[in-house]
Amino acid sequence: MEDILIMDNIFKKFGSGHTEITALKEVNFTAKKGEFISIIGPSGSGKSTFLTISGGLQSSTAGDISINGSSFSNLSEKKRSDLRFKEIGFILQNSNLIPFLKVKEQFILVDKVDKRKTSNEQINQLLESLDIASLKNSYPRDLSGGERQRVAIARALFNNPSLILADEPTASLDTEHAYEVVKLLVKEAHEKQKATVMVTHDERMIQWSDRTYQMKDGQLLKMDKN
Ligand code: ADP
Ligand code: MG
Repeated sequence: MEDILIMDNIFKKFGSGHTEITALKEVNFTAKKGEFISIIGPSGSGKSTFLTISGGLQSSTAGDISINGSSFSNLSEKKRSDLRFKEIGFILQNSNLIPFLKVKEQFILVDKVDKRKTSNEQINQLLESLDIASLKNSYPRDLSGGERQRVAIARALFNNPSLILADEPTASLDTEHAYEVVKLLVKEAHEKQKATVMVTHDERMIQWSDRTYQMKDGQLLKMDKN
C-alpha cells in the first residue's frame, strides 16, 4: 500500500530551561492509503500536538514529515499551506462549522480559497453519501452534535484530500452518535481510500481501527490488534 504520511523521528519541545516540556519524543509513524488508524491516550499525552504537527499546522523541533512524498521541511510556508490545503482534511472536536452559513454553504469558503467553482451537484453527492442531504438548508445551530460532525466530515472530504486527520471527533457526542461518526470515518477511509488518523482518549472508539497506537507522555507505542 502507498505511504501517504511519513513521520520520521519527530520531537516537539515547548518552552525552555526548567519549564521545558517535551511533548513528542522520537515519534515514527506511517499512514497508508485507505487505512484507518487510531491513537489513544489520556489528556496531555501529546495527541493534539502529534496531529497538528503531522498536518503541518505547527512545526516540529526535530525530525521530518512528508506527505505524498513532499517533505514539509523543504517547503516554503506558501507551498506548505498549499500542500495542507490540497492533501489534508481536518476534523476537530467541535466541528468548527461557520454559524451563519447553511450546511450547503459551509463549502463556499474552501471554494473561494481554491479559486474554483464547485457545482451544487458535487456538494449534493457528497452530502448524500454521508446521509445528510436533507440537512442542506439547515444552519449548524439546528443540527444535533452527530449531524454537525457529519457535516464536518463532508467538509474535510470536500477537496478530495489524501489524508484525513481527526482530533477527538467524538468528544462532544453521546456513545451512539460517537460510534456512528467513527464508523462513518472508517467507511470513508476504506471506500474513498483516505489515509485517516483519529486521536481519542476514549477506548471504546478504537474497535474498528486497522491499526492502533497508544500515546504515552509523548511517545507513540504500537498496540496489539484490538
Ligand atoms: P493532548 O491532546 O493529548 O491532550 P497536547 O498535545 O495538547 O495533549 O499536549 C501535550 C503536552 O504539551 C501537554 O503537557 C501540554 O501542556 C503541552 N503543550 C501543548 N501545546 C503547548 C503550547 N503551545 N505551549 C506549551 N505547552 C504546550
Ligand atoms: Mg488534545
